[in-house]
Amino acid sequence: MNEISTLARSFAQLARNAEKDKSSIAISKEPIEDPSLEIHTLGNRALRQEARRIAKVDESIRELTREMLRSMYSAKGIGLAAPQVGINKQLLVIDTDLETPSTPPLVLINPEIIAFGASLETYEEGCLSIPGVYLDVIRPSSIKVSFRDEMGRPKKMNADGLLARCIQHEMDHLKGVLFVDRVKNEEDLSRELKEHGFEQKDVRALC
Ligand SMILES: [Zn+2]
Repeated sequence: MNEISTLARSFAQLARNAEKDKSSIAISKEPIEDPSLEIHTLGNRALRQEARRIAKVDESIRELTREMLRSMYSAKGIGLAAPQVGINKQLLVIDTDLETPSTPPLVLINPEIIAFGASLETYEEGCLSIPGVYLDVIRPSSIKVSFRDEMGRPKKMNADGLLARCIQHEMDHLKGVLFVDRVKNEEDLSRELKEHGFEQKDVRALC
């Protein structure tokens, strides 16, 4: 009797898990005309706020995730953090494969870097919040990150290359840090900012 009810319970659990796995935040990667969330640009105070941890991953978080993806895909970006759309929550969306419609985006909720690789790498970065500006930034070339996915499931992942770069860039947004704060070449920085209509005073150089 007990065994049967245990079995029944585990089947019910399996069914629930299958149902959970089916639900997805995947949306069309085609740009849309007028996404609901506007992406703020350098100089906007929202970009400098610290984001808060998300206590509960529910349907409202998944809907926010979908809206962020729509804004990101419409701006042809590969990453977007919630503070960029004025929402101070620890939520990131990333998709380094915009060309393949079937590759699902990556959703990172409350991400934490739990290990850095030993080597550093210089790579040119850009940001949807600082359009047109592309500059070299030095970062660890690989990381291990823990996070919750869009279903609230705890995950751990190793990343290197473009993905590691992108996760670190987006995680900076959660602390109110922008990639231009990390640029070492001041000459390039002031030239690029000026050329694209941004102000040096909105950069906060990091030591
Ligand atoms: Zn950015």
